[in-house]
Amino acid sequence: MAIARPGGTGKLFDKILIANRGEIALRVQRACRELGIKTVVVHSEADRDAKYVRLADESVCIGPPPSAQSYLHVPAIIAAAEVTDAQAIHPGYGFLSENADFADKVEKSGFVFIGPRAETIRLMGDKVSAKTAMTKAGVPCVPGSEGALPEDPKEIVRIARTIGYPVIIKAAGGGGGRGMRVVHTEAALVPAVTLTRGEAQAAFGNAVVYMEKFLTHPRHIEIQVLADEQKNAVYLFERDCSMQRRHQKIIEEAPAPGINQRLLTRIGERCVDACKRIAYRGAGTFEFLYEDGQFFFIEMNTRVQVEHPVTELVTGIDIVQQQILIAAGRKLAFRQRDIVRRGHAIECRINAEDPYSFVPSPGRITSWHPPGGPGIRVDSHAYQNYYVPPYYDSMIGKVIAYADTREQAIARMRIALSEMIVEGIKTNIPLHQELLLDDKFLRGGTSIHFLEERMANRKA
Ligand code: ADP
Repeated sequence: MAIARPGGTGKLFDKILIANRGEIALRVQRACRELGIKTVVVHSEADRDAKYVRLADESVCIGPPPSAQSYLHVPAIIAAAEVTDAQAIHPGYGFLSENADFADKVEKSGFVFIGPRAETIRLMGDKVSAKTAMTKAGVPCVPGSEGALPEDPKEIVRIARTIGYPVIIKAAGGGGGRGMRVVHTEAALVPAVTLTRGEAQAAFGNAVVYMEKFLTHPRHIEIQVLADEQKNAVYLFERDCSMQRRHQKIIEEAPAPGINQRLLTRIGERCVDACKRIAYRGAGTFEFLYEDGQFFFIEMNTRVQVEHPVTELVTGIDIVQQQILIAAGRKLAFRQRDIVRRGHAIECRINAEDPYSFVPSPGRITSWHPPGGPGIRVDSHAYQNYYVPPYYDSMIGKVIAYADTREQAIARMRIALSEMIVEGIKTNIPLHQELLLDDKFLRGGTSIHFLEERMANRKA
């Protein structure tokens, strides 16, 4: 754990504004408090009573419940930083965390944006430019069109023939699993491209689409990196996030079971090189699809991720504190060879939703008993009598289990979930409990389609 301590002597911030809500607002607040930094929490009217709002040194209501009028309302957030004299803004994940214009605005208003430079966010936020940059940096990408798809239908057909079916059409500006369409036959190709372009324009204001080979049984493996202003970069190994539904992860773990260590080291080193090449700053994640012994880059997330705790548990490095230290200009206090990974960690995202239909289940939590015991960490802003608002993401917390081996970590997770009581709303705990008993999951290495296929079989 010694390497998690601040290194260097640059002055840290006195006060940080947290531009987010829910468990990540609490997580960032905890990191700040441990570093002796005061916190300002901005919140919507719907989150007025949240516990982390009360725990903050200062809080500012920035608008009504809908995100567009509060958590996405840039002028209100900047004004809140001004009136409270905050020096830096932590964007968490989601909301404005990968919005380059926001990062720009924050810095131009005289605050530090806790994250990469706006130009880096812009480069990696456009999936076409991100892929081009990664190819240049020697990071392997999914075979596909070189850049954006052209207008000419004949050209599109030619490109798909070269790649081979099935292919996937993806929006350059896409995110959150939206703006993608799989195409199995040539007859369906051009209409699919037209449709995806239209959707992309409507959803992301950018009609540019590109094409990739659709991998049929990949795993989702991602590499966590940290890079400082001084061009030092390290990777904190990998996470396996293959347990997904509609491209939303629900279970994540580290290390990824059954992948050759040499292969992982090589891909980790490539990510570090890429960070240096694009002068990356802060915490980031390179997402890969992994199939038949090969890694293919799909995108980079230029922010902290929901699943960061599994990496924290196996490396002993506090990723959120590192983000703050890097933003304050500190040099990384450790080198790659200082980072030792130990044990296995697994995270279950707890969502307020029906475990099988996935219909959101907001409302009042009448009973809340989080689990505890050896190796259990619970990151949640919920509590007894907390009202889960209907306006935001349904995740109400994360249970993370850590142990020497994967088997023990899973055993601890099972016990934890059996102890956990949440009443008044529905949660996906029963689904997690089922998955933690599934033979294929227990063997490790299931593909990203596993959960959806399992749910389909369940219905049949
Ligand atoms: P987003 O930014 O919307 O999350 P990604 O590019 O990260 O989009 O892709 C999200 C998910 O879509 C991946 O985790 C994977 O499940 C699926 N996916 C994306 N590209 C491919 C591909 N080429 N082949 C198979 N599945 C893919």
